[in-house]
Amino acid sequence: MNKKISLIIPCYNEEKCINSLYDRLKIIFDDMKSEFSVDAEFIFVDDGSSDNTLQLVKQLAEKDDRINYISFSKNFGKEAAIYAGLENASGDYAALIDADLQDPPEMLKQMYEILQTQEYDCVAARRTTRKGEPIIRSWFARRFYRLMKKYTNVDIPDGARDFRLMTRQMLNSVLELSERNRFTKGIFAWVGYRTKWLEFENTERTEGKSKWSFFKLTLYAIDGIIAFCTFPLLISVIIGLIFCILAFLFIILVIVRKLAFGDPVAGWASQVCIMLFIAGLQLFCTGILGLYISKIYSESKARPIYIAREKKIFKK
Ligand code: UDP
Ligand code: MG
Repeated sequence: MNKKISLIIPCYNEEKCINSLYDRLKIIFDDMKSEFSVDAEFIFVDDGSSDNTLQLVKQLAEKDDRINYISFSKNFGKEAAIYAGLENASGDYAALIDADLQDPPEMLKQMYEILQTQEYDCVAARRTTRKGEPIIRSWFARRFYRLMKKYTNVDIPDGARDFRLMTRQMLNSVLELSERNRFTKGIFAWVGYRTKWLEFENTERTEGKSKWSFFKLTLYAIDGIIAFCTFPLLISVIIGLIFCILAFLFIILVIVRKLAFGDPVAGWASQVCIMLFIAGLQLFCTGILGLYISKIYSESKARPIYIAREKKIFKK
């Protein structure tokens, strides 16, 4: 029997991209079928789009029986869409690709060849340039990847995309991590296995616009850090310790001053500054703690990662 690739495509308001994406995928997978005798299924995950994305996918599904879809009851986010796709994939391989054609689908062929001929479990793509992106965003993104590399046990290369092809074995491992706060890039790195990184030049979105504002990206980065390291908790411990030592030294200084020079009452302004500063630091540290507690809270509620309103999925 032929091997099968399940291609998962998270879509959120992508009506402008669906048809051109499908046209390109069709060419590639028809080609791969004749060259490598590999079958395909496409799983479009409609992440609660408010435009015509789902209708377009359904129209395609009528023409092409390789097309499956899941439609969410509301927008659950890309991470949830990826999880839904992986959970419902029936192939021997699973691939992820964005709907906006920023990930060149032609690379899938090369990815498949590598998995066939070399000792890898996953082939993923990373972009080498951040052309078309605001400079400040690129700067923060680079800092983020460096921070993750230094302080967590997962290594995510700079510019890593979700665009990848992996074996069924790796897919099953990813599904075993059933956490609700899903930072997919971290999860892929955490499960290990051998990943080959292919590089490509950034392509700008041709249609529609990115769903990520700078603010959303910052929150996403914080989520990633919280999900994969406890280093921020250590920061608050260290800050607390430093201030205890400073306070102790200060007490000694005050006592010595009192004994040596009497006790001139002065410096209330500097005192207010110090108080405000320390109060700020305390709030900051409590905030860090709060972030972790909020994650525990949302994990302990154990709500489903997504809710499907409609779906068409092949039986496994
Ligand atoms: N996406 C999604 N749910 C969301 C946001 C985005 O499924 O809440 C999908 C989107 O349709 C696209 C992919 O995730 O296929 C990447 O989104 P986008 O292009 O906005 O991100 P960027 O390329 O800027 O990182
Ligand atoms: Mg994009």
